[in-house]
Amino acid sequence: MPEKSELLCVLNAEIVACRKCSRLVVYREAVAREKRLAYRDWTYWGKPVPGFGDAQAQLLIVGLAPGAHGSNRTGRMFTGDRSGVFLYKALYDAGFANQPTAVNCEDGLQLKNVYITAAARCAPPDNKPLPGEILNCRPYLERESEILRPRAVLALGKIGWDVFLGILKHQGTIPGRMGCRFGHGAEADFPEAGLRVFGVYHPSQQNTQTGLLTPGMYAKVLRRIRGYLEQTSKINAGRTESTEATEKKETTTQRRREP
Ligand code: SF4
Repeated sequence: MPEKSELLCVLNAEIVACRKCSRLVVYREAVAREKRLAYRDWTYWGKPVPGFGDAQAQLLIVGLAPGAHGSNRTGRMFTGDRSGVFLYKALYDAGFANQPTAVNCEDGLQLKNVYITAAARCAPPDNKPLPGEILNCRPYLERESEILRPRAVLALGKIGWDVFLGILKHQGTIPGRMGCRFGHGAEADFPEAGLRVFGVYHPSQQNTQTGLLTPGMYAKVLRRIRGYLEQTSKINAGRTESTEATEKKETTTQRRREP
């Protein structure tokens, strides 16, 4: 069985080559050609942006879509725009990243126990992917989730929340989304999938500059997630110990019975 990192590499190569959404292909490439004045010396990425982070992550973060002059420029999720400034500082403060800043792919940023992805991988006009484009992109998120098998998912905004719950419904893990309403600080438990989904407002400039979203609000949710992951790790470790003890006991009993 290939390692998770190998499976993610194969998937990411497929994502980077994707041209399924003609509107987004035209837009992302036009932005990359025309550039913003401040970044005129950059060679823009201009392609779908693959997921980024720890291949052994227990926490999967689902954003909306790349920013036209952010990750469409740098080629790494949430890197190079105001949303990333807010998000990576919050992850660093919570112990999920080795540094608080994300500037480009060579800046040394490493995530710990976190993998970041998005509902759509190509920068959309006005930061708004169309429903059909999100649907086109959904199989990539589905495969990422199958490879990583996260214990916690953090949806950045309602679209990320709806898309991930849509995947759980599509997989037959949940019958529907009734009772799973998005909100900042919302949590939905799916014990059958060994998973809890957390919701926060998207760290867009619009939310962070108007005060709708503050660093303290992210810190609180990230603390909840850390606590949840530690608690489930202890429970799983307890289960493993108990299974090993039972197996040992059975082997000893069997030996005693042998002539
Ligand atoms: S948004 Fe997703 S499905 Fe559409 S072109 Fe980009 S990578 Fe492909």
